[in-house]
Amino acid sequence: LQFPSKLIEHAVSEISRLPGIGKKTALRLALHLLKQEEKTTVSLADALIELRTKTVFCKQCNNISDTEICQICTSFNRDQSLICVVEDTRDVLALENTGQYNGKYFVLGGIISPINGIGPNEIKVEAFIRKFPNHEIKEVILALSPTMDGDTTAFYLSKKLKQFNLKITTIARGIPIGGELEYADEITLGRSIQQRIKYGED
Ligand SMILES: [Zn+2]
Repeated sequence: LQFPSKLIEHAVSEISRLPGIGKKTALRLALHLLKQEEKTTVSLADALIELRTKTVFCKQCNNISDTEICQICTSFNRDQSLICVVEDTRDVLALENTGQYNGKYFVLGGIISPINGIGPNEIKVEAFIRKFPNHEIKEVILALSPTMDGDTTAFYLSKKLKQFNLKITTIARGIPIGGELEYADEITLGRSIQQRIKYGED
C-alpha cells in the first residue's frame, strides 16, 4: 500500500496490529476517523489509554476490574459458597450473560498446555489454591474448555483441591468454554451451569 502521508501510514501500521485487521481495513478505519469530528477520535484515543492504564486485575478473583476488588467479589448478593474457575474474562462475561449463575469466579488467565509450554506456574493456579482452606467456599465449579488442555487443567486443579473436602463439579460436556464460550448460546450455557455434574463422573 502506498500512503499519501506519513501520519496515515503510522496510524495504519498501529491499527493493523489488532487481530483480524489487515492493512486495507486499517486504512479504511484511519480515513473514517479523519472524516469524523476531531473530538470523536480524541475520545476513542482517550478510552483506549484509560483502558490500558486504569484496568487492573481483581486481587481476589483475577478478573479484569476498575477497582482493586471487582464488583462481583464485593457484592453481598453473590453466593459465597460457590466459586467457578474459568480460563479468562470472556468466560466470566458469557456466564454472567446467562443470568443463571450467582456465585463467585476465579480467572486463571490461561490454561495449562504442555504442548505450548504453559505450566501451572504460568497461570494463576497457585493464587487459586492459596484460597483454601476457606470455610465459606463449599463447591468449586471447573468451567474449562472441553479440550485436552482444559482436561489437563481440570485434572490438575482437582488433584490440588482434593485435600480440602470440597464438592468439585463441572459444567456439561460439549459446552464450548474457554475463549470459545462467547459462541455458546446463553440458554445452553445457563442450563449447564445450573445442572452441573460431579467432577470425574461425566
Ligand atoms: Zn473479583
